[in-house]
Amino acid sequence: MKQRKHRHRGPYEPQTLTRAVTHIRLEAANAGKLTALDALAQVYLPLCQQYVTLFCTEERPNKVRAQLFATPLSERWHRVAIQQAAGIAQSWRTNRAQAYQDYADDLLDYHEQETEGTLDAGAQEPTWREWHIPVLRQTCIQANANVVELEPSEDSTFDYWLTISTLAFRKQLLIPVKLAAYHREALKDKAINSSVTLNKRGDGWWLTLSYDKVIPVHTAPSAPVVGVDVGIANFLTTSDGKRYGTFHGKLRERQKRDREKRRRKAKLRKCLEKKGVKKLPSTSSRSGQRLARHVRQSINRAVNQSFTEHQGCQFAYEHLSVATMKYKARAMNAYLYASNLAHIPKQIAWNAAKRGVAAIRVRSAYSSQECSVCYYTHRKNRPNQQTFCCRVCGFSTHADLNAAINIERRLGDAELQACKDKAAIKALLMQRHRKWKQQNGWP
Ligand SMILES: [Zn+2]
Repeated sequence: MKQRKHRHRGPYEPQTLTRAVTHIRLEAANAGKLTALDALAQVYLPLCQQYVTLFCTEERPNKVRAQLFATPLSERWHRVAIQQAAGIAQSWRTNRAQAYQDYADDLLDYHEQETEGTLDAGAQEPTWREWHIPVLRQTCIQANANVVELEPSEDSTFDYWLTISTLAFRKQLLIPVKLAAYHREALKDKAINSSVTLNKRGDGWWLTLSYDKVIPVHTAPSAPVVGVDVGIANFLTTSDGKRYGTFHGKLRERQKRDREKRRRKAKLRKCLEKKGVKKLPSTSSRSGQRLARHVRQSINRAVNQSFTEHQGCQFAYEHLSVATMKYKARAMNAYLYASNLAHIPKQIAWNAAKRGVAAIRVRSAYSSQECSVCYYTHRKNRPNQQTFCCRVCGFSTHADLNAAINIERRLGDAELQACKDKAAIKALLMQRHRKWKQQNGWP
């Protein structure tokens, strides 16, 4: 399996893609060698955890922070632990802040609807539950060249030698690395990054290598813009009215079958539990995992096709917040949909980077409620999930298409991008609406 990472600079600048080559097994002829690695991990992980906790609570994450906790590890390993902990804490903080913003937006929506008297029956005020600090359960070491060195092997049947510093002073582990044919093919003529990842699972130690690929962007800032709305009825709707992929039909049928199966299994478990049976059937559903994979493949196909059919364009797509996802998934009210929705923007970013196409994320607040003709923004412009019908100018079209047109227009809309929060965006849109009314002689 290949993981991938995509570092984003300016949308028209070359993009760096990091490709990972995973599942390289570490097999030492001498079992004692890997035991030394186990011993290292046993002190590395708790130290890393101490810094994760520190960076999530009392201090901002700092990759080069001065050493604070005592450890038998060398100074170099200590620095590696701090660096990894800072990375973990930073992404935790970013995700938490995003979730908190979503909660604040939900709360704003709730009070707005309360004031308007349009709250759904049984609607409850959103609440915030504080996040837990991440706990490192699996052994994963993100090492750099200061502690782990990878060198090609010239004179053996192995491909590389991995030199790992250990707990013992100046004593290094030398572990041979043998690549599978497909690993060798993937790494052929590549400059391998000096940072490597070591993972320990039940069945032993595994190595992940990676390399960077720089891809120039072919799109000019003046290229025509295509706006993309992400949804359930259609995975993607473009501002020129094309649609790609859907959760409905076959996928939905499969999801229903899967849910039924899980329900039956849960019932069976309860029944067996009552009878005192110790070994219960597992609740995790293999068909559910298969379905999720199938959905992702359908999404990938849809995204691919949308790029193929819009060559020479630049893409504007939405920054999907959890709140937006929830809103979009409300019709189905199934978590599966929401989690898969998040895969779509990621896939758009990845496809664009891979193809050297500019894709720019724009703010999506109110893009589904804003009229793409007169800017009037109101929940009631959406009489149902599929339809957009403006309460002022009467413009009517498919709701996803109206949103895609708004998203297209938001690329390069500096005024809107600069808005502090959702309320500011709404105020700006209503100000534009008033201007539109004046210009068009509307009463
Ligand atoms: Zn309108």
